[in-house]
Amino acid sequence: MLRDEERTYLLETIREIPDFPKPGIRFKDITTLLNNAKAFTLLMDHLQERYEPMDLDFVAGIESRGFIFAAALATRLGIGFVPVRKKGKLPYTTVGEKYALEYGVDEVEIHIDAFHQKPGARVLLVDDLIATGGTAQAAARLIKRVGANLVEALFIIELPSLGGRERLEREAPVYSVLECV
Ligand code: AMP
Repeated sequence: MLRDEERTYLLETIREIPDFPKPGIRFKDITTLLNNAKAFTLLMDHLQERYEPMDLDFVAGIESRGFIFAAALATRLGIGFVPVRKKGKLPYTTVGEKYALEYGVDEVEIHIDAFHQKPGARVLLVDDLIATGGTAQAAARLIKRVGANLVEALFIIELPSLGGRERLEREAPVYSVLECV
């Protein structure tokens, strides 16, 4: 369990960039957490402690910042890492899921055989941040469509005002380490 002062410390290591990548967005920049060894280690210690008892088989990360936390956690747990990528990036046969953006549609993909070593694999889905939950919901559906069991979705940061948790909880339990306004 993280203590309140540890959560406050982690929050303070995240830099906020106003109006990036477009006006009105307050971008949560996690590079300032990652380049702080004390903060990154504290975060990974917490995640290892939380997920060690859950008997997971794989950690799946969403491109691209989700990869960082998912891959680091996978090695800590001694299990495999699976990438969920934007359309057209994965080289082998893929399964895709579209999701709505504010304007238009995007799509994420996973390799069709990502979890073939273990039918019914217990999978944790990871991204850096949940806003509306659209990206994570599409990724969650992909994981289920290729035959795995989605145990939980993990986010380092949650923006609770955007309702992503409510949307994603239709697919799996949701855990976020930090809440931001
Ligand atoms: P959403 O599908 O709306 O939940 O958006 C989540 C994705 O967009 C994640 O991959 C985040 O990395 C990124 N994202 C959305 N809003 C922000 C923000 N304010 N700061 C940083 N990343 C964001």
